[in-house]
Amino acid sequence: MIGLEIHVQLRTKSKMFCRCDNRADDARPNELTCPVCLGLPGTLPVANRTAVEWALKAAIALGCEIPKRSKFDRKQYFYPDLPKGYQISQYDKPLGGPGTFEFDVPEDGKVVTKKVGITRLHLEEDAGKLTHPKGADYSLVDLNRAGTPLAEIVTEPDFRSPAEAKRFLQELRRLMRYLDISDADMEKGHLRADANVSVRPAGSKKLGTKTELKNLNSFRFVEKGLAAEIDRQTGLLERGEAVVHETRGYDEDRGATVSQRGKEEAHDYRYFPEPDIPPLEPRTMGLVRLREDLPELPVTRRRRYRDEYGLSESDAEYLIDEPLNANYFEERIEEAIIGEDAIKDAKEAAGAIAKMLTGPYAALLKSGKKQLFAELGIEAGVVSDLARLLVNGRISWQGAKEILSTDDALHFRERREALLKRYQPVATDDIEAIIDQAIKDNPKPAADFKSGNENARQVIVGSVMKATKGAADAKAVLELITKKLR
Ligand code: ADP
Ligand code: ZN
Ligand code: MG
Repeated sequence: MIGLEIHVQLRTKSKMFCRCDNRADDARPNELTCPVCLGLPGTLPVANRTAVEWALKAAIALGCEIPKRSKFDRKQYFYPDLPKGYQISQYDKPLGGPGTFEFDVPEDGKVVTKKVGITRLHLEEDAGKLTHPKGADYSLVDLNRAGTPLAEIVTEPDFRSPAEAKRFLQELRRLMRYLDISDADMEKGHLRADANVSVRPAGSKKLGTKTELKNLNSFRFVEKGLAAEIDRQTGLLERGEAVVHETRGYDEDRGATVSQRGKEEAHDYRYFPEPDIPPLEPRTMGLVRLREDLPELPVTRRRRYRDEYGLSESDAEYLIDEPLNANYFEERIEEAIIGEDAIKDAKEAAGAIAKMLTGPYAALLKSGKKQLFAELGIEAGVVSDLARLLVNGRISWQGAKEILSTDDALHFRERREALLKRYQPVATDDIEAIIDQAIKDNPKPAADFKSGNENARQVIVGSVMKATKGAADAKAVLELITKKLR
């Protein structure tokens, strides 16, 4: 049983309770501070309206109820990166929750919809950063991060495997990016996950004692850390020993979790209502508008790509991952279905464009260490043009692929005529003749296929592709061969 507690750093212009800059990445230590976020006595924090609205947006998108009243509380603890001696957080009246969030997970070749209970979503301020220079007998404090807004999201213990927890985190990251409220980059600490985990004998209804894994700072660590902890707890229970309720960390080198400290309880923090900030009435904060302004969310978009465009789960997943890339994809479809030689069927256009974006474009992004299709320097119209040419049978897939992996892509307009000549698809009549010849040349695979070995026909496909120097459409060739052999 796994439950997650996630902190998301909101990318608002200013900090949570003061006007200090919350976005400057290149600031010098302690440059982005003021009396409020330095925690000087006598200062007055004022809640950042945008941060509250963004947290509400996130809560709505996660399927949370929005309460009538919400308030801030002081959570007291001492730490050198927390100058006030308390953190302004929310205790018993969070901004959102409870709720249920649904997302799709591929499982054994099928797509399964998972439901996750969201316990709550609340707002709080972050602490500063400590660095411990090697060999020094002092530590350094940087309060630039002090007072920056965090949305904390707590889930019910609804995950049943490390992979499921990881999938949820990836979906959450995507969601935050779609809502445009956080970069949600785990490596940069914009999204931080703590994972609570317990095991219990199969069939048992009672939850086991849990431990909390802190500071899992990549999706991979979440998965590996949880797997290691599940092994450890299972071992303890099988030996008749007890799991101790504590906070643990994941040690990558040892591939194991290590005890960090005993678990503190809520009463240790002496929470009390923050007297400097009036309570909030979130339902009066333009909820209708916030709801209406929500973009299409990744879950819906992925389903639409599958149902409307007929894309495979993995292509849909790739294309929706980055909202700007998904927009790029849809804009290219719009272009391909209008004007001269327009592709009549949007589904067909989507298929051709998806093939180029998930194939050659994806490869270019990977090799160039880039994130966005728009950053590749290829004129946007080239993909929609190629899609029209492909669908209208004027260029081979092999040719389109070739063009998109060379500098022909950058000079497509000038070279168009020459490229069309070079990458002409093989005519259907020629293909038939080539296939007949290939079947004749490969009597054994042909016979094997007829006696039930489906894979045997790949040899014949290979020989056709070789004869056409890859200019034939492999899928069409496979279909034709199958038809002929049957
Ligand atoms: P704590 O008071 O220790 O912080 P909470 O009840 O607030 O515990 O839960 C914190 C997180 O731990 C939540 O994400 C919740 O889903 C998860 N959790 C609670 N009990 C268990 C359990 N027995 N096994 C796994 N996760 C749990
Ligand atoms: Zn400040
Ligand atoms: Mg708790």
